[in-house]
Amino acid sequence: MSDYKIETKCVQGAYKPANGEPRVMPIYQSTTYKYESADHLGQLFDLKAEGHMYSRISNPSLAYLEDKIAMLEGGVGAMFTSSGQAANMMAVLNITSSGQNIVSLSSIYGGTINLFAVTMKRMGVEVRFITPDMSDEEAEKYIDENTRLIFGETIANPALTVLDIKRYADLAHRHGLPMVVDNTFATPILCKPFEYGADIVVHSTTKYMDGHAQVVGGVVVDSGNFNWENGKFPELCEPDESYHGVVYTKDFGKAAFIAKARVQLMRDFGSIPTAISAFMVNTSLETLHLRMERHSENALKVARFLESNEKIGWVNYPLLESSPDYALAKKYLPKGASGVISFGVKGGRQAAVKFMDSLKLAAIVVHVADARTSVLHPASTTHRQLTDEQLINAGITPDLVRMSVGIENADDIIENPY
Ligand SMILES: *Cc1c(COP(=O)(O)O)cnc(C)c1O
Repeated sequence: MSDYKIETKCVQGAYKPANGEPRVMPIYQSTTYKYESADHLGQLFDLKAEGHMYSRISNPSLAYLEDKIAMLEGGVGAMFTSSGQAANMMAVLNITSSGQNIVSLSSIYGGTINLFAVTMKRMGVEVRFITPDMSDEEAEKYIDENTRLIFGETIANPALTVLDIKRYADLAHRHGLPMVVDNTFATPILCKPFEYGADIVVHSTTKYMDGHAQVVGGVVVDSGNFNWENGKFPELCEPDESYHGVVYTKDFGKAAFIAKARVQLMRDFGSIPTAISAFMVNTSLETLHLRMERHSENALKVARFLESNEKIGWVNYPLLESSPDYALAKKYLPKGASGVISFGVKGGRQAAVKFMDSLKLAAIVVHVADARTSVLHPASTTHRQLTDEQLINAGITPDLVRMSVGIENADDIIENPY
């Protein structure tokens, strides 16, 4: 499969039925697996044999989906999680403990800001926010010997800033740290962060990967490229006593990070999705390439229309020439910038709310990346917990409306009277 193009991998990746087996990936709705001998199961518990032992740790339906997503991103392994939040949490905590810190771009998803700045803080993990206007020298001041990783989003939700992945991956690598990229909005169809030096990719599969607003889920993908044996990551290079002294870098090689995330963090936190979720996301992935193309095409049309409309104060879409991130978008998102746009309605907060209440085709929902066009007012909903300063750092103004342009006919979306 590795020679096929990404569209083919979306449709036919991972699950390969043998003679007479189901054409469609089965739903293995079983918590448990049967063994011929107690010894074999013992070997599984010591991670000496391959196979499934309990569905809190792994399951065949999940494994097919994980293999497909790893294939799409170009990684060595993936772990499907019960939400994007769980994916981000486990990607960070896999290598970060109390007393340590992470450095993150400030323009990221509100839920991730809460996770980092509130809940992880209570666990003794500090987050240090940096902004793209800081020079590398300034950003480096936030890195010290307890820093574990740099985090950013390819296309930030909802600020829509485009991450200079290569710049921050280089910065991280100069300090012996991995770069973790949340690639939710771009998906591997529009951008593959590993090609620019990212080491770990995370997704909320709830968004475009599902694409139909049906399944909450997330995924962590390991590029297999980071050298964990640089002296900074003993948790991956020294024996894990909870597995009779397994050493992840020795026993799992390039897949050390994702193996540890699964057998240690998934084992202990248990944020495992169901087999049915894996089945549904897998079906959705079969059309991911088509959907991303249409979402992007429609969004650019809607963004151009709004830009020429006198009731609209400003429009932000990375592939508009007027976007401050246009050059970055051209570099990282040449095939399209996904379906999410944001704009300000003239008249501020109240005008934005009135605009949304008047829409017919686009529904007000707390979601993006659905096949159906939807809108949201972040300042009064998803980001209402943020202070004004945090709002501005996250790139959000009171008049901002976030529109997730669907895959309907673009003319219908535009002519939607209000
Ligand atoms: C939605 C989202 C998340 C959180 O994912 P859930 O599946 O809702 O838990 C994380 N990062 C980004 C960029 C998102 O858009």
